[in-house]
Amino acid sequence: MTDCIFCKIVDGDIPSAKVYEDEEVYAFLDISQVTKGHTLVIPKQHTKNIYETHPQVASNLFARLPKIASAVKEAFQADGVNIVNNNDEAAHQSVFHLHIHVLPRYGKGDGFGLKWEDNSGKYTQDQLTETAHSIASKIS
Ligand code: 5GP
Ligand code: ZN
Repeated sequence: MTDCIFCKIVDGDIPSAKVYEDEEVYAFLDISQVTKGHTLVIPKQHTKNIYETHPQVASNLFARLPKIASAVKEAFQADGVNIVNNNDEAAHQSVFHLHIHVLPRYGKGDGFGLKWEDNSGKYTQDQLTETAHSIASKIS
């Protein structure tokens, strides 16, 4: 896609700090380096977000994550790694070429935060079943 910055990175038209490349996948350092080693993993084939991604493209992309995440963790002896994928502006997607963030973690105050409300016990089993059915009915 001509006006996509990540396609331009794949094509070498915009410089990037490459971490890994094969026929289907490209991985490079995120310019923002939320934490040291913050890496983006993308399919070479342009796809806007997770919803529009062909299952085979998603499969190829995810298949590379174990070794890339392991390398990111090992390189700087991180304590852990978060794998994050944002879709739509409401979910903080700012580049509309599917990408997976690999974020090494170095303890409290390392630059990455995730608000995670625990609503355990808030819903009855019937309510959870109803919610699950709403989602299941949309899976084709
Ligand atoms: P999003 O917010 O869409 O999930 O993440 C997009 C990421 O792309 C951001 O973390 C941002 O720092 C990164 N980014 C945007 N432009 C460039 C660029 O030109 N080069 C690199 N390496 N990263 C970029
Ligand atoms: Zn693209």
